[in-house]
Amino acid sequence: MGPEDTYDLIIIGGGPGGLGAGIYAMRAAMKTLLIEKGAMGGQVTMSDSVENYLGFEHVSAAELSMKFAGHAASYGLEVQNQEVTDLEPGTDFHRVKLMDGRVLKAHAVILSTGGSPKKLGTPGEDANYGKGVSYCAVCDGFFFRNKTVVVVGGGDSAAEEGLYLAKIAKKVYMVHRRDKLRAGAILQKRVLAECKIEMVWDSGIKNIIADKSGVTGVELQNFKTGATSTIDTDGVFVFIGFVPNNLLVPAGMKMNAEGYVITDAKCETSIPGIFAAGDLREKYARQILTAAADGCTAALAAAHYVESKKALLDDSCTFESI
Ligand code: NAP
Repeated sequence: MGPEDTYDLIIIGGGPGGLGAGIYAMRAAMKTLLIEKGAMGGQVTMSDSVENYLGFEHVSAAELSMKFAGHAASYGLEVQNQEVTDLEPGTDFHRVKLMDGRVLKAHAVILSTGGSPKKLGTPGEDANYGKGVSYCAVCDGFFFRNKTVVVVGGGDSAAEEGLYLAKIAKKVYMVHRRDKLRAGAILQKRVLAECKIEMVWDSGIKNIIADKSGVTGVELQNFKTGATSTIDTDGVFVFIGFVPNNLLVPAGMKMNAEGYVITDAKCETSIPGIFAAGDLREKYARQILTAAADGCTAALAAAHYVESKKALLDDSCTFESI
């Protein structure tokens, strides 16, 4: 392992948390590498537009992602498009193993791997993924022009994506397990005012019905009455929250019962020198703004950690050479 494989800081994940961290790390003059296996922007790339990122009243998610990546690139942040397979904590250096077989080391690591869409676990869901079942309206909505779709969920994602789909589809049924949306007030108002959206309250999907070509309907159950019914539909879009992408979380790192990483106010995890930023972290609000803010906090704290670590290593070298 040569000096070219050794960094002050390695950031895993290129969403707003990782890229925010990248900017602050470069400003702190750390030798930094950001590793991302997919598209830069993370979960932002799965949205249509963003209306609540400070300074932007309305911006397309694609443009915002490009701006984030461009901003980090303007500081000369090194980015590698690779998959990390393992993170092995150490005392002076943590080791980051890559899919291509390389092993990199860094004094500090920021985990900003975000989350993935939660699945319903309903019969027919996995078998029809890509054949009518989707977790991304921006990616797949196009295929449902003038068709009927079912959106499942009642949070911000379901509301935003339901509204996006209403611009494309002929009809959107929004199936929610309660009689009140969880989404923010403005989104709730827009959903309830959208004439193409019909709410199906207190209900869940029992079964996704399909033929050889894909989804043809859903079987519903009303949780209050127990009654079952069916809706003919061409697509089922599931937006029922996220699960943290915690596969790289090393053994022994503290997580909560839902698998989110527990950090202190500096975004430092229970393993010294490893920080978590964005949706992977246990916190109250999961927003683009709070992910970017986590990135800032984690990078500033990592810079302090790296400086102290280097000073200690320099002292021990001096001591040994006397
Ligand atoms: P969420 O806020 O956790 O909402 C999930 C929704 O799905 C809830 O309505 C929930 O019902 C329902 N649900 C959960 N599990 C279910 C199941 N097994 N079967 C049926 N329904 C189920 O998730 P999200 O909407 O994906 O948002 C995740 C985070 O990102 C939130 O913090 C959100 O504010 C944020 N976000 C923000 C924006 C924005 O600000 N523009 C956009 C998207 C997401 P209950 O309500 O009954 O629990």
